[in-house]
Amino acid sequence: TQQRDQSGSVLVLHDITGIRRLEKMRRDFVANVSHELRTPVAVLQANAETLLDGALEEQNIAEKLVEAIHRQTGRLSNLVADLLDISRIEAGQYHLDREPVDVEDLCRQSLEGMERPAGTRRVTLRYTPSNDSGWVMADSKAVEQIVTNMLDNAIKYGRAEGTVILRTRNDGSRVRFEVQDDGPGIDRKHHARLFERFYRVDKGRSRGMGGTGLGLSIVKHLVETMDGRVGYRAAFPNGSVFWFELPATTAPGMDAPLSASAAVDAL
Ligand code: ADP
Repeated sequence: TQQRDQSGSVLVLHDITGIRRLEKMRRDFVANVSHELRTPVAVLQANAETLLDGALEEQNIAEKLVEAIHRQTGRLSNLVADLLDISRIEAGQYHLDREPVDVEDLCRQSLEGMERPAGTRRVTLRYTPSNDSGWVMADSKAVEQIVTNMLDNAIKYGRAEGTVILRTRNDGSRVRFEVQDDGPGIDRKHHARLFERFYRVDKGRSRGMGGTGLGLSIVKHLVETMDGRVGYRAAFPNGSVFWFELPATTAPGMDAPLSASAAVDAL
């Protein structure tokens, strides 16, 4: 901001609250990542040492130690994969190729990929397109990643032996995707922060399930990059609904319906 006073001198003020805020976000991010790395790395080290100190000879103990090593490396590898996504997003290198994507094909494919984790918790997966859901203008890998993340959360945090429903509806200009579970749901006070990096409602449960707290922040970024919206609402009578919307488009090779003026031009 510049302001000229009567004596003719110039006052220059820079608003640095934005810069300060970014610096703080970065510091918090590094602190969060370090914190997330600490436990798995400590477990790996301690268990390897115990094995080397003789536990290798005792099969029962050895098996438990190796199982814990396996679990923690799973967590680490989820964390590294999510951090790589975030660093690509921040560097502007997360390349999205937008083209018409068949909504129902994509949903069925995403559900197929989740059959195993659903089976482990004996969760029933259902898909109910409410009309011909048509096509969205989007990057198919990104949409699959978004749907998969929401299904994965619904299976992990929903009810064991519960039901997870994927719905899609096309209103002509947008396609809405919804993932509903019949689990405990999420308390109102958390709703506004659900899509923040490292935000977890139930920390212990998330970590125990190999969660990183980064999934929904990546989802939000991907949806918004494709000109969509994302959100949460409580399900009735219990459970959660995570939803997102993307711009609808016509099937490739099909001409869009001619608008009146285009029809006149075409004559
Ligand atoms: P995480 O890797 O921990 O699953 P996410 O960013 O995907 O991270 O989700 C953030 C948090 O939101 C989770 O840790 C969990 O506490 C909560 N959450 C997400 N989906 C659900 C759901 N369907 N039911 C209840 N809680 C959920």
